[in-house]
Amino acid sequence: MSLNDECSRRDFLKTTGAVGLGLLAASTVPESLCAQDSGRVPTRPFGKTGANVAILSMGGMFDIPNNQLILRQAVKWGVTYWDTANSYEGGNSELGIGKYFAKYPEDRKSIFLVTKSTAWTLKGMTEHLNLSLERMRTDHVDLFFVHAIRSISTMDKDMQRWGEQAKAEGKIRFFGFSTHSNMEECLLGAAPLRWIDGIMMTYNYRLMHTDKMRRAVDACAGAGIGLTAMKTQGGGQVLTNNPEELKLAGRFVQSGFTEGQARLKAVWENPQIASICSQMPSMALFSENTAAAVNKTKLSALDREVLRRDAQASAAGYCAGCTGICEPALAASMPVGRVMRYLMYCRNYGNRDFARSRFRALPVETRAAMDRLNYTAAEARCPQKMPIGRLMREAASELA
Ligand code: SF4
Repeated sequence: MSLNDECSRRDFLKTTGAVGLGLLAASTVPESLCAQDSGRVPTRPFGKTGANVAILSMGGMFDIPNNQLILRQAVKWGVTYWDTANSYEGGNSELGIGKYFAKYPEDRKSIFLVTKSTAWTLKGMTEHLNLSLERMRTDHVDLFFVHAIRSISTMDKDMQRWGEQAKAEGKIRFFGFSTHSNMEECLLGAAPLRWIDGIMMTYNYRLMHTDKMRRAVDACAGAGIGLTAMKTQGGGQVLTNNPEELKLAGRFVQSGFTEGQARLKAVWENPQIASICSQMPSMALFSENTAAAVNKTKLSALDREVLRRDAQASAAGYCAGCTGICEPALAASMPVGRVMRYLMYCRNYGNRDFARSRFRALPVETRAAMDRLNYTAAEARCPQKMPIGRLMREAASELA
């Protein structure tokens, strides 16, 4: 099977889902969906850092040691922004990047290399950074993130000094954080600090048009902070295959791109976003996303309206990460946002093993209390109107 054949089949299945097979024939999928050599991925300035980065970033949450061809192709296609973390694949992600640089040391110069630490202590971050450099066989990373912060209070004066020291030692060029929780508050808090170089945050067609996200992104763009969007497919916790989803699939195939490509384009249409970080564990998905990045066709007003309607129709199946709203409403400490994310990894990304490993890392008492807790007050506050109790109980049995 050729790459394009594989891509067409996979995209088609992904786009239509099993229920949509009767609506769209595979032969209707345009070839342009899987274009492979239509030019290099464009770049955008990363805030005021002076660096230009590819608008598509290679997310490193996959088996990189055994998929070196993807990295080789990334260099050829201009996907030269690589994102990993100390924790990804139990360290194998960074080791895979190191394996690549050992073979192609000259490519290190063209890569904007990003890694992250979840240590959240200065000593732990120093240990993680040193280990990351060793694993990736490099003397510096271009950007280092404090990973998955939930509040801007994590980025305190000590953290600022740590970043300055790491820069002075030449181990990092830029410093910032990533966030999947309370993103808008984290961004709004970061803008006035003036020492945050870059942020990676959950951002997609569901979230990008809300007033608070617009204000947060405006503030960071105004402060010269480089912004990378992640979780751009807006995948949720509940898979519905509702009529709106099927209409959506058909709509974009007729326009010449897949639903997934349309969701990427919606984010790229905001020039304040420097790059989209995407997990692309297969050449098929990598090809699809690269084709979208080099393709200059804009979404039409109707395309945008279709996305808006989809976001509306499936809101109750998508956790917006606003944990500051639901978690304080509970009688006991419970990481609702994190569990919703693990459910998304399992159900939407199809990465059950990863989701279960993250779930098992939660404290035993938290897991034990999960299906007994009363979530009524949290559900009453949830702006997405999610059935939190039901989903938490499902997570407790599905991910245990
Ligand atoms: S469950 Fe609802 S309130 Fe809680 S983080 Fe998700 S969207 Fe926000």
